[in-house]
Amino acid sequence: MSPKESSSGVDELVYLRNIGIIAHIDAGKTTTSERILYYTGRTHRLGEVHYGDTVMDWMPQEQERGITITAAATTFSWKGYQINLIDTPGHVDFTIEVERSLRVLDGAIVVFDGVNGVEPQSETVWRQADRFGVPRICFINKLDRPGAHFEQAVASIRSKLNVKAVPIQLPVGQQDSFRGVIDLIEGKMLLWELEGDGSRYEILDIPSEFQDAFQSARQQMIEAVAEEDDLLLEKYLAGAILLPEEVRSSLRKSVLARKLFPVLAGAAFKNKGIQPLLDAVINFLPSPIDRGTVRAKEVHGEKELDYVDCPVSFDQPSLALAFKLMTDTYVGSLVFVRVYAGTIKIGDQLLNPRTQKKERVQKIFKMHANSRQEIPLVKAGDIAAVFGPKNTGTGDTLCSPQRALVLESIHLPEPVISVVIEPKTSADQAKLETALATLVKEDPSARLKIDPETGQMLLSGMGELHLEILVDRLYREFHLMINVGRPQVSYRESVAETVTGEFEFDRLLGGTAHYAKVCLELIPVEKHVTAEERIIWDQQVTQQLFLSVEAKKMIAQGCLEALDSGFLAGFPVIGVNIRVLNLQKQDGKEFSEAALRGAAALAVRDALKKAHLNLLEPIFKLEIRVPDSQVVGAVVSDLTARRGKVEAMNMQDNGTTVITALVPLANLFGYSTDVRSLSQGRAQFSMEFAHYEVVPGKVRDDVLRSLGRL
Ligand code: GDP
Ligand code: MG
Repeated sequence: MSPKESSSGVDELVYLRNIGIIAHIDAGKTTTSERILYYTGRTHRLGEVHYGDTVMDWMPQEQERGITITAAATTFSWKGYQINLIDTPGHVDFTIEVERSLRVLDGAIVVFDGVNGVEPQSETVWRQADRFGVPRICFINKLDRPGAHFEQAVASIRSKLNVKAVPIQLPVGQQDSFRGVIDLIEGKMLLWELEGDGSRYEILDIPSEFQDAFQSARQQMIEAVAEEDDLLLEKYLAGAILLPEEVRSSLRKSVLARKLFPVLAGAAFKNKGIQPLLDAVINFLPSPIDRGTVRAKEVHGEKELDYVDCPVSFDQPSLALAFKLMTDTYVGSLVFVRVYAGTIKIGDQLLNPRTQKKERVQKIFKMHANSRQEIPLVKAGDIAAVFGPKNTGTGDTLCSPQRALVLESIHLPEPVISVVIEPKTSADQAKLETALATLVKEDPSARLKIDPETGQMLLSGMGELHLEILVDRLYREFHLMINVGRPQVSYRESVAETVTGEFEFDRLLGGTAHYAKVCLELIPVEKHVTAEERIIWDQQVTQQLFLSVEAKKMIAQGCLEALDSGFLAGFPVIGVNIRVLNLQKQDGKEFSEAALRGAAALAVRDALKKAHLNLLEPIFKLEIRVPDSQVVGAVVSDLTARRGKVEAMNMQDNGTTVITALVPLANLFGYSTDVRSLSQGRAQFSMEFAHYEVVPGKVRDDVLRSLGRL
């Protein structure tokens, strides 16, 4: 939607940007953010990741480790524009932070390492941004490093991400002598002092020795831009001079349509290239108006109606998405919201359609990492933290009670690893349960399972680091003395073939007879579907009985609860759809929600009991960079010994071999130490979850035996 078509009064949003910084770990996201805050006057000192004094990595755990764990939000202004920025973690263990940030952002800066180009998680976050349709600009960072190569990094974006990357700058000098950039649109050279804080830079005419490189790079840029824009192409072919403003506005359109991705050059740590990056954010990334209407589902009481498109406007009923929860030591529990329509004010009552409860807005804050500024209201297009809501979780919609709408929620990843946690003294049991419940509420990629018989608490997460950080918070924030078991793989179970189950629920509850009989089948599916998609209703079943939405919900809930633990070893059952085949009631007995839920759960249990169950294990994708060709053989045979499958081996120009392999997580504990000693500390690797796979026969027996199930 163009600004002209938008509802009146929102024109000021043209000057607003909601952006994120995404990248592979260590590409320089936090360092870049710190520079941005400094040059925009938000901070008055340059924080460094390795000194542990950055503003954005504010958690003690982040500062000690030099990594970003939670996505921090901040606001600053640049040349009259307000920019809300979210710095996200690159480590796969914290992928939920990237996911929920991208869900609410309008545009992103993707930072690449000038030496390594596209790395595995650059690819992962790029795909995530694709899913949310987020326009991007690319920043090739670390051009001061030995081995840095701008053109190669651009080439890797083109080949690995398969997109049209368009450099709009050329680096001046590389590695040690990297001094600045040539602006291909303006035809100017920007030079920073070699040392210094980088706040000043000179804008010069392009010297003769750079003219050839400039002319050819500019021509390539113009051709790429004109290829997407017929008017500009005509002008270019006619030999007319193209003004910088014309090139920019044409390129902007293609960036917003995600046809082109501008590429910029810099070295954040050396304080070079940041100001032009900020200009590019303004010039090429979308405002909330450019992103246009947002789709929401209308709900009326229990009924879900159709999708509606909500335009950005300040005076419509309010509509916001809660994308993050954070406990602030001074304020309490904060809910981060992106407002899509209307204006949220202090004192407002907002409806959470999931819980059907109203939530009161008591305070509103603009966040600056972990410090905050109180504001009276937050308008459509903007991001803020709200204090007041009690029962709102990540992905929930908050809207005006006048019109109940539900925005698309946030996709939650499956945890793959878990640890048993117990209090050192049993007096702390309840306190620990509360603490864990708080952590899991803040971070929905962590799960807590409490064994109903033994009271044992199992905390699951995305990786060893994720669990380590959660446990650390139990010590530090909740001052709990605990014992932590060894990390274990979170297996899954699945049914090998379709199987039916049934249950007749016939009980006296509080003096009344309740009855329901459910017959259903479990059908194995390849694709892992979301919970709601798992239940298939036979038309005749629902029509026959005029099932209410609430009754269907109860049946679904019963089914899903029963899938929480399978019969092999109590792991969650995945990769299965449930078809409800038949439902029966009995005259004189209540066809109640309790009866439906109970019958459904026990019918699933019945089917699981009869089924042949597979044990599934998480498989990780590894990318290992081995600089020394002599040790490649040893690294590969070690992978094979871990039941790994090598997928590809590529030798790069600089002699580094890049190995990609799929390896079961069960055999990856301690891998970083092992690969270091195999390669004398020179190999680098990264890993991320790929999929679940059936555990082969012999290994399966070993696993079940070790769990005491065989
Ligand atoms: P993140 O994981 O993407 O947030 O990356 P960080 O900002 O934490 O940076 C990772 C490491 O790279 C830190 O030690 C930084 O000091 C360093 N670094 C960041 N940018 C540059 C750069 O432009 N040049 C060099 N040489 N090092 C950099
Ligand atoms: Mg970081």
